[in-house]
Amino acid sequence: MNIIVLIKQVPNTTEVKLDPKTGNLIREGVETIINPDDLHALEAALALKETHEAVVTVLSMGPPQAIDAVSEAMGMGADKAVFLSDRAFAGADTWATSYTLGKAIQHMGEVDLILAGRQAIDGDTAQVGPQVADFLDLPQVTYVFDIQAVHADYVVVKRRLEDGYERIQCRLPALLTVIPGAGKPRYPMASRLLLACREKAPIQVWNAADIRVTTAEVGLEGSLTQVMRTFAPKFERRGTMLEGGTVDVVRTLTAHLRENKLV
Ligand SMILES: Cc1cc2nc3c(=O)[nH]c(=O)nc-3n(C[C@H](O)[C@H](O)[C@H](O)COP(=O)(O)OP(=O)(O)OC[C@H]3O[C@@H](n4cnc5c(N)ncnc54)[C@H](O)[C@@H]3O)c2cc1C
Repeated sequence: MNIIVLIKQVPNTTEVKLDPKTGNLIREGVETIINPDDLHALEAALALKETHEAVVTVLSMGPPQAIDAVSEAMGMGADKAVFLSDRAFAGADTWATSYTLGKAIQHMGEVDLILAGRQAIDGDTAQVGPQVADFLDLPQVTYVFDIQAVHADYVVVKRRLEDGYERIQCRLPALLTVIPGAGKPRYPMASRLLLACREKAPIQVWNAADIRVTTAEVGLEGSLTQVMRTFAPKFERRGTMLEGGTVDVVRTLTAHLRENKLV
């Protein structure tokens, strides 16, 4: 059974800071991690490997330094990795990201199960998993927190709802987007990490030509959307002191709240 896990390297913060002049993300000095939901997807894949004959391959697209996330995934127990890194991939919106990942998956050959995190903590769109499934014309289940059974041609999973869960049987190959479940992501093993960092052997680095795409199809050029402007919202605080007796103050306050449609 071939399992592909999509992982993204993200800044270790949900408070993304923007350069006020360029509008770009400030990445300097920010520690990076594997996106938390992706760690749960990888843990689910590694748990399956323990009970089924499975080969777990991680797939990531990012700038050169994102190979650290791939090495960490290898340290956790992934068998192989494909790292997509090419200047041509830079500036991709979610559509171009999903297209590039989809093309790489097609190039990787036979796959039974693709696991992605539900959402990345920096981009936060939760679009990439579903878009990859759509591109590959695969069934998908989102918000999966428990993979209960895997058979030759179908999988049984539990997906989270606001007030409960659904138990779903889905034919394979399929794509699941994963949220934290019962299994805590394992720590990388030092020996495996060293091997991945030193030899990089099981990590294949692919560029646009490797996955047979032109530069016009990927990255900024291949993106269907363009960011016109990025800015941090400015908060203004205005204070008004209410004076007088309690009853007067309460009357003035409630009138003010009603007037401003706050109640
Ligand atoms: C309009 C727009 C314009 C953008 N322009 C730029 C830009 O100019 N430069 C730039 O750097 N970024 C840009 N981005 C951000 C970039 O598109 C996203 O970082 C990327 O597409 C992933 O989207 P996300 O972070 O929302 O992931 P989500 O959809 O929230 O991620 C869900 C899951 O998909 C998988 N996944 C997501 N991204 C990857 C990846 N790269 N590799 C492997 N798996 C992955 C992971 O499993 C993840 O948990 C732009 C985004 C938008 C919406």
